[in-house]
Amino acid sequence: MIDIFIQLAYLLASVLFIFALRSLSRPDTARRGMQLAAFGMLIAVAATLLHTRIVTYEWILIGAAVGALIGYPLGMWVPMTAMPQRIAFSHAFGALAATLVGIGEYAHLYHEQSLTRGVMTALGFEVLLGALTVTGSLMAFGKLQELLPGRPITFPFQNFFNLALFGLGVAGLIWVVLFPYDVWVFGLICVIGLLVGILIVMPIGGADMPVVVSLLNAYAGLAAVATGFALDNNVLIVVGALDGASGFILSVAMSKAMNRSFANVLFGAFGSAGGADEAAASGASGEMTAIQVDDAALRLAFANRVIIVPGYGLAVAQAQHQARELVDLLEKRGVDVRFAIHPVAGRMPGHMNVLLAEAGISYDKLIDMEDINERFAGTDVALVVGANDVVNPAARTNKSSPIYGMPILNVSEATSVIVLKRGKGAGFSGVENDLFVAPKTSMLFGDAKQSLMQLGAEVKLA
Ligand code: NDP
Repeated sequence: MIDIFIQLAYLLASVLFIFALRSLSRPDTARRGMQLAAFGMLIAVAATLLHTRIVTYEWILIGAAVGALIGYPLGMWVPMTAMPQRIAFSHAFGALAATLVGIGEYAHLYHEQSLTRGVMTALGFEVLLGALTVTGSLMAFGKLQELLPGRPITFPFQNFFNLALFGLGVAGLIWVVLFPYDVWVFGLICVIGLLVGILIVMPIGGADMPVVVSLLNAYAGLAAVATGFALDNNVLIVVGALDGASGFILSVAMSKAMNRSFANVLFGAFGSAGGADEAAASGASGEMTAIQVDDAALRLAFANRVIIVPGYGLAVAQAQHQARELVDLLEKRGVDVRFAIHPVAGRMPGHMNVLLAEAGISYDKLIDMEDINERFAGTDVALVVGANDVVNPAARTNKSSPIYGMPILNVSEATSVIVLKRGKGAGFSGVENDLFVAPKTSMLFGDAKQSLMQLGAEVKLA
């Protein structure tokens, strides 16, 4: 009876997860998606606690308390700009849980002498992928948090070596399926998984880390599927499959938005010494023209059409509310204002949508790159707020640039361009930007929040 109840609860949780993913695909329903997912998780955890295999609750309660103590601050206090590394950190925990469950289940079945080939296949996958995800995610966290060098660390025949080591892990997996009681081989799979995680992320540059985080998310999902098979737990199989598939889809979508092949992200050592030289070779030549706040405000106030291009700098400055205030003031004057959203603006997909939505900017003002690019030509002012790479013409014109081929926003087609940034700093890719020295571009130097606030004050007076 209790078993039927648990299975029904798992079914309900799985349905909630599927609806949650659907809601997460649109900014205006994303918040509800998160709530549905959290509710689904609560049901799944509560149902699991009723399982007859649980003999004592003490350790579970301690684990839940420790988890809550770590999870609450991570969710509440980590700023949006640090979200990619926060996610990488959570993946490491998730994968560690899958790996430990795999090891625990192996030990349990070993003592019962009931290891079968089917279970060993699942446990082998779980431990190999789980261990790889633990160290891979910690490496990604370290690089994003700048605890480790962000540049790719390479050595000769690296890809070949990594592949050979992973091949050894797979050979070990096949071995334990055939000879489940060879404990040392099972241990070797864990160690190889941990090593491969470090080695595959080492040669990937910090700029590509969000793609890697999303790919590791997929691996963690696959490890959860394997756990589900090993424990005969349906909700883990469903959730792991959803996690795995969405992680892969997101990684591919992010690579596509940067016009890079998936293989190039994983094996291309983007941002290596060669890349840095290329970056320097594509350096902007010419002088930037500074503009004063009052002049910039007049240009905006008397424009017919303005497109705001938000980027990572807007997120750093937490300037979304000031952006909204400026939009309100301009609209009161009859100016048509839209936001141009580049798919990889910021540091994670949807970063700009989330920030602007938080400030109450309506979704119909947030226009995706493909739809807004043709509108720049008829626009009086393109106001670039802390964006750099996503408006860099080198992506289109300079074949030797590391970002060549990345689709960009057609900012340079607007009648005039005003750029809000603090100084002459390069973007995430380290590539200089010719847009900033173009004759039609004026630079308003300063923190984006302050600049937007001052622009608002001046527009009021205009
Ligand atoms: P960039 O990182 O290219 O540029 C951000 C700019 O903001 C910098 O040039 C910086 O210049 C400026 N800035 C920083 N702080 C402030 C501040 N407080 N006020 C004003 N300006 C500030 O950002 P983009 O959004 O244009 O591009 C995103 C990059 O991230 C791309 O290269 C993309 O490929 C990469 N990426 C994004 C992913 C995603 O999913 N979104 C995933 C993987 C990579 P200054 O220092 O002079 O102020």
